[in-house]
Amino acid sequence: MTELTRRSLLAATAAGFAARAVPAFAAAPPYTFKHGAFEVSVVSDGHLVLPTSFLGAGGPPEERAALLKAAGQSGEQYQSPTNITLIRSGSDLILVDIGSGDRFMPTAGKLGDNLKAAGIDRGKITKVIFTHGHPDHLWGAVDDLDDLVTPNATFYVAAREWDFWHGEEAARGLPAERAGFITGARRNYAAIKDKVKMLKPGDEPVAGLQIVDTPGHTQGHIALALAGGDGLIVGGDVLTHPLISFQHPEWKTVADHVPDQGAQTRRKLLDRLATDKSKLIGFHLPYPGVGIVERKDSAWRFVAAP
Ligand SMILES: [Zn+2]
Repeated sequence: MTELTRRSLLAATAAGFAARAVPAFAAAPPYTFKHGAFEVSVVSDGHLVLPTSFLGAGGPPEERAALLKAAGQSGEQYQSPTNITLIRSGSDLILVDIGSGDRFMPTAGKLGDNLKAAGIDRGKITKVIFTHGHPDHLWGAVDDLDDLVTPNATFYVAAREWDFWHGEEAARGLPAERAGFITGARRNYAAIKDKVKMLKPGDEPVAGLQIVDTPGHTQGHIALALAGGDGLIVGGDVLTHPLISFQHPEWKTVADHVPDQGAQTRRKLLDRLATDKSKLIGFHLPYPGVGIVERKDSAWRFVAAP
């Protein structure tokens, strides 16, 4: 067998395996569009399976139940998509968050397979910018041997987020069942520590890409604003539910570390998105999570891109 044939066969087998191993939902091809000087793609990392009790826990039970029913989430558990943003800017190939990796949930950690299926080599990623340090955003930085999956990238973390996960406050501020989040965050941060740059709100790690302060979900959560047209916000976990986050941003969320601040940040970002008519990419909104925000009554609504 010639080397060429052997290679093609191996590649074909790998692609076939990836297609079988990844659930249909996660195998959605990247959703790509032009935004100003950027080419933006959303690539799925699969989805999380979470207790429905996480959703809108602070809302009045009847109103909450109606919204969950409308979203098709009336069971004990629901599926939360995980949408990773990939940005091409000049010679840079930038990932915003890096998914769950293979130590969080079996339904997540599909980013590597989906990038490969789309013909994108993780060795070509030049920058990885993290919105925050939760498992579904950070733990995919390393493989099962704790080696970096993007060996040629520089990493960007908000200084406040880095300090939170490394400090005493992490243990005090998280419920006991999430103690593993601290271990995992520190393991992944340790792997990137020689290649990490600290960010503060207002920084532009790439021309036209600005860091926006959006604390509450975690202490140092950031979003990204991309210049061009009416703007584009990569929102991380500020707006996580297609109905509740927009109609009732004031309802407290179990997943937020600082619930009051999280609610305040949601309203502020919703107001900015609706005023500027910017596009939004929501990490946990239905894939690909791209749309715009409109005012509705005294709140807002998410309008998914066609
Ligand atoms: Zn998340």
